[in-house]
Amino acid sequence: MSGTRFRASGPSLPILQTMAPRLRAPTALGSAGAKRSTPQPVYTPPPLESRPHADEIARWLEVLETTPLLELGARADAVRAELHPDGLVSYIVDRNINYTNLCVTDCRFCAFYRRPKDEEAYVLSYEEIGRKIDEAKELGAVQILIQGGHNPYLPLDWYLELLRYIKEHHPIHVHGFSASEIELLTRVTKLPVDEVLRQLHEAGLDSMPGAGAEILVDAVRDVIAPKKIDASRWIEIHEAAHEVGLHTTATMMYGVGETWADRLEHLLKIRASQARSLARGRGRYTAFIAWSFQPLHTEMEGWDIPLGTGMDYLRVTALSRLVLDNVDNIQVSYVTQGPKMAQIALRFGANDFGSLMIEENVVSAAGINFIMPEAEMRRIIEDAGFRPARRYQDYTLVEDESSGCPCCAWRHGEAKPAAR
Ligand code: SF4
Repeated sequence: MSGTRFRASGPSLPILQTMAPRLRAPTALGSAGAKRSTPQPVYTPPPLESRPHADEIARWLEVLETTPLLELGARADAVRAELHPDGLVSYIVDRNINYTNLCVTDCRFCAFYRRPKDEEAYVLSYEEIGRKIDEAKELGAVQILIQGGHNPYLPLDWYLELLRYIKEHHPIHVHGFSASEIELLTRVTKLPVDEVLRQLHEAGLDSMPGAGAEILVDAVRDVIAPKKIDASRWIEIHEAAHEVGLHTTATMMYGVGETWADRLEHLLKIRASQARSLARGRGRYTAFIAWSFQPLHTEMEGWDIPLGTGMDYLRVTALSRLVLDNVDNIQVSYVTQGPKMAQIALRFGANDFGSLMIEENVVSAAGINFIMPEAEMRRIIEDAGFRPARRYQDYTLVEDESSGCPCCAWRHGEAKPAAR
């Protein structure tokens, strides 16, 4: 299915699948931005006994070995039904805006970025971003997901002014800037991370996405993204965001050559981090989202690694529901797995369909494109036996809260709610 595009009739929302400026479409022979394949480093997984949460990893590895796939799914489905007994599967209407593709971090798994001197490198203007927001709002979007490359030429003021511009001229919930983008800002400004986050929040940032987690094991990160922040810094920045009152999400990109012990260590680190944030009582991880690595047009395209299979996706989804007992929501990734696998995942522990993306540039840069109209998404959810429901970022349902997104409504004159 790689490289195909899912289409359905009767859309209730048109799809604006715009390409980023000057980013040419991939061709059968590669893309204008195809990365040169780098030699594959040897990956040596850390021994079990040296890992954090070693005992629990060992226990879950045994569960994986001894539990048939369908039984694992049934156990996860039972947990999902207990946590979400209403039979709802939620989703959010939003637009991905990638404000820049210029990046100096050179992640080997990334097909999206361009180096500073590349003629396809771009930075969107505030006006372009505002126009994209207006288009999205006309189609029912209640948030933008805004993230981009690690562009060292953009100062903190560029981000602060952008957020103020959005809130003043195109008000919408801003879910933006991953932990590694925040880290870049701390390096550029030499300010502590909590100060950078506080200023961004004050200027208009409402929540933070979980991108950049990949696999939270440094031995894996050293192979696939050696210039990116390490696992503990990713976690530290999320907990700092929670402390300033921002909710965040957590993610995992698997299928990059890691082991099941690596995947479990990742999940257990997120669970421990969530426990600390819940104890502090401010922000938290609202959801966990996993997807498999898409190698097309990346430096890892020719590597000899077992890519994530459909069975792997279902096991990862079920395990995430079972292990992350303090994270409320598990999202499917229909964009990478396709609608039918996403339907099955709803019976393997997932309860949320993620985003009805009005625009997506990052996964599609790797040749995968399962974006669908809203009517089709709702049908897929209904066919799996659930009732679809639009939501806001904090998982309040749109049908229950007609006055707008509860977690950023305070910016428009209402009382600021406590982080929920
Ligand atoms: S994943 Fe992000 S940080 Fe890494 S190269 Fe791509 S744009 Fe840059």
